[in-house]
Amino acid sequence: MIDDSKPNANASYINKLNKIKILNFIRSSDGISRADIAKKTRLSPPTVSRIVEDLIEEELVIEVGEGESKGGRRPTLLEFSGENHYIIGIDLGTTNIYGVLTDLNAQIIAEKKVPTNVNSGFHKVMERTAEVIQDLEELLSKKKQKRIYGIGMAVAGLINRKRMIVEFSPDFHWHEVDVIAELSKWHEIPIVFDNVTRVMALGELCFGVGRMHRNFICVNVGYGIGAGIIVEGNPLFGFNGMAGEFGHITLERDSDIQCDCGNFGCLEALSSGNAIAKVAQRKLKSGISSILNEMCEGKVESITAEMVAHAAKLGDSLAWEVFENAMEYLGIGIAALINLFNPEIVVIGGGVTQAGDILFDKVRKVVKARALHKIAQEIDIVPATFGMKAAAMGAVALILNKVLTFDLLHPKVAYFY
Ligand SMILES: [Zn+2]
Repeated sequence: MIDDSKPNANASYINKLNKIKILNFIRSSDGISRADIAKKTRLSPPTVSRIVEDLIEEELVIEVGEGESKGGRRPTLLEFSGENHYIIGIDLGTTNIYGVLTDLNAQIIAEKKVPTNVNSGFHKVMERTAEVIQDLEELLSKKKQKRIYGIGMAVAGLINRKRMIVEFSPDFHWHEVDVIAELSKWHEIPIVFDNVTRVMALGELCFGVGRMHRNFICVNVGYGIGAGIIVEGNPLFGFNGMAGEFGHITLERDSDIQCDCGNFGCLEALSSGNAIAKVAQRKLKSGISSILNEMCEGKVESITAEMVAHAAKLGDSLAWEVFENAMEYLGIGIAALINLFNPEIVVIGGGVTQAGDILFDKVRKVVKARALHKIAQEIDIVPATFGMKAAAMGAVALILNKVLTFDLLHPKVAYFY
């Protein structure tokens, strides 16, 4: 409980904390009266009334009718108003830029996907991202007085939280790029971004497995590999925001497979979607027969991890061996994470999880064999709650968290139609 009686306490700070508390209380209830909020939060009735009036004025709370009388007047019930304001979530992937427009209840109103064309360079990719945002905004423009609170964005790479830049992205081949400065040329809406895997973990925390679990790890297996680690309900950032680079732990000392980061034998170079495709291509070029030859119509370079998974399911021995081998390393890596962090559950998301059971069955088997029995015996390894939308929904959570904590970086430039 926050003590609002101390004369020396910082009044505006305490007011903000009380406001956060009341808003989240209303949001987690099914209609609650001012009197019940006061009782349950142990804040004084005048404090509750004053803050509720602010929240109504900010259109985050609405009055929804009357509750049952406990003797005397029937109380007015309050509810969180999630439908009148919006958030844009962007998953800036190496293959596609995928954007969603949601309300504050995280209901998707519209979505938009365009190819990233990663080789076109940072400025072009930002321009395409700005176009996706603009298209989503325009869908709203017919609705008067609707507010977009912010743009959340998931980006693959090392994010320096102190400098708010992408310090290095092996997937995009970016060094020291300023996403916010570039996008702000087109948009005045506050932008919040973070590493894609931590963003996915945040989405799970807000809307998925986080409702049941306070300690979990979200592993993203797509073009690259990363881990978002949630400890006691909080994301782990590390010293300057670069924790979770799970894909770049060395798993094969003598490997001749170079990772995009420059090192050899990284997990990402052995188990990612990109790695699966490259290993299969290499084997095909050496003349091993496989139905992949027909699937790619002779264009070996066009083989993708998705095609390898499909061929493996059809019983192709080359594809099966390549996929199993990749999942063996992934399982070994996840077993190490489980030993280190003792999570309640591990969530796996990203494009490669579209392979389904052949991924999950193998990883579960390897984890059971490799992780310490006492730590891993009851662990669940499950697919991401939002499937291929996991990163975009996590990006929505980035903004929603800021709305619910009254912490948007530049609230005055929030956008009104
Ligand atoms: Zn690496």
